[in-house]
Amino acid sequence: MQGTAEMLTAFETCPRQAWWRREWERTKMGATQMLQAGVCAAMLEAERKDWGEVAGETVYALGAEPGLLTEHYDVHSEVIHLAAIADVVASAVRPPGSLPWLVPESLDGWEPSCFLSPDGLHLRRIVFASSWNDDRHYSVCRSWPSLGPVSYYKMPMQIAVVILGQHRGGKYFSSWSRGLLHPMNKKLRFRKKRDIAAGFKASWEEVWREDHAEISTEQWLQAMLEDGALADACFSVDIAVPEKPARDRIVDMAKRKLDRVAALTELPDPQLTGCDWPAPCIFRDPCHAGREPREGLFKILTSSY
Ligand code: SF4
Repeated sequence: MQGTAEMLTAFETCPRQAWWRREWERTKMGATQMLQAGVCAAMLEAERKDWGEVAGETVYALGAEPGLLTEHYDVHSEVIHLAAIADVVASAVRPPGSLPWLVPESLDGWEPSCFLSPDGLHLRRIVFASSWNDDRHYSVCRSWPSLGPVSYYKMPMQIAVVILGQHRGGKYFSSWSRGLLHPMNKKLRFRKKRDIAAGFKASWEEVWREDHAEISTEQWLQAMLEDGALADACFSVDIAVPEKPARDRIVDMAKRKLDRVAALTELPDPQLTGCDWPAPCIFRDPCHAGREPREGLFKILTSSY
């Protein structure tokens, strides 16, 4: 059975979630899932040089098909907002002139969901988070999407962490999407995370990235850099390859757990602890209603476990 970090994470959260994930996938995409898809498309782009545009266009296309899963009433505006963020993030994570990221080959028993640096020496992935602290750091470093591929491929990993800020009313509140314009000279500034009160009068105009096409992505990023906002919003976390005994332990554990997923023969009991946090379970609605997932809201996976 080909293992994935996503299946192992689902199984550890709730065996019922893993049972359904063997066959079902949600039809629409969540906001961070859509951002992830847009920015990753830009990292892999081998022909075009405007990867910010690639990311934005990808998000916009995904907003039409399969669509964004949201409770916000103005879905179109939310997709435009996400496309604008994807443009700035992709331009920050992939420097001008750099080669495209690669996809590692599948291994016997492991299907990767991470990437490879252009020189083939590091695994890479992008993590979107609303905020960051030590607990989140260790949670990401010790998660299956990090330790799984690092142990299977015996390669270090570089994680690009992107802090999106709070998500309210269909918008992310961070410097990727929101800034302040000087009332006279229209200079773009950002409030620093650790110095929020720093000298902005009420006359500075709050602006959203998607409403100001006259500000280029490069100008937006440069302003973030000059105000120290870029360092708060985007940084790298490196994961070294564990020593062989630790690596072998992780791979053996993954195999045992994946065997247990494959051996499931009936719908497992719910595990209520994982239904809502740290992220809502994608099967929460049918599960709590006592139903099976059904087509329309979900689609059947072609490659079944
Ligand atoms: S909603 Fe809760 S119990 Fe149901 S599959 Fe998801 S995590 Fe498990």
